[in-house]
Amino acid sequence: MRSVESNLAVIRDKITQSCKKVGRDPRDIKIIAVTKYSTIERTKEAMEAGITHLGENRDQEFLNKYEALGNEPTWHFIGTLQSRKVKNIIDKVDYIHSLDRLSLAKEINKRANKTINCFVQVNVSGEESKHGLSPEDTIPFIESLQQYSNIRVIGLMTMAPHTKDEMILRSCFKKLRQLQQDIQLLSLNNAPCRELSMGMSNDYEIAIEEGATYIRIGTALVGE
Ligand SMILES: *Cc1c(COP(=O)(O)O)cnc(C)c1O
Repeated sequence: MRSVESNLAVIRDKITQSCKKVGRDPRDIKIIAVTKYSTIERTKEAMEAGITHLGENRDQEFLNKYEALGNEPTWHFIGTLQSRKVKNIIDKVDYIHSLDRLSLAKEINKRANKTINCFVQVNVSGEESKHGLSPEDTIPFIESLQQYSNIRVIGLMTMAPHTKDEMILRSCFKKLRQLQQDIQLLSLNNAPCRELSMGMSNDYEIAIEEGATYIRIGTALVGE
């Protein structure tokens, strides 16, 4: 397995190039190392290489990592979250990327002791296997979150279809960005919506060209 350090150097290089293409500042893109298949050792290696944001998609694996690594990294919960698991993780996570239903919002609001930064997950591609709200349902959903004072919608998250077709990927990211802009125009107090969590190992360069501010990278950074 290649070192995280060398993988990270390659990724940073590509980020710089993608930013250059569209006139963005590479410092505006945050790399979340998705460590769901990684050992604690490998995760520590990522932190030593300079990674500060870690992403996990299952509550139990997150708790294992948290127990070993504590709150030094910034923790992102990126996977489907069952409402009954919220209480186990809520005081340990910094960001939740998978807010996609009112019952979950209600539980987060109830269990949280502070404002929780959330991304609303949108199923832009409409694939049935994917979680998230349809684009049409997203704005009404965010408006209905105004009753939950512990939830701040800092952005939108999506997972692009599993394809190498650049047109399809680009169009998916563009739609998420358009939706973000529509939400920003509403100037909702609970939803500044400045961030876009999009782009994974296979598509982060396109995502950056289309406005991603958080990219979630597993395979290309820490290995499978
Ligand atoms: C696994 C996962 C990733 C990272 O996927 P890679 O293709 O390995 O980079 C990103 N986001 C979510 C929600 C994931 O579950």
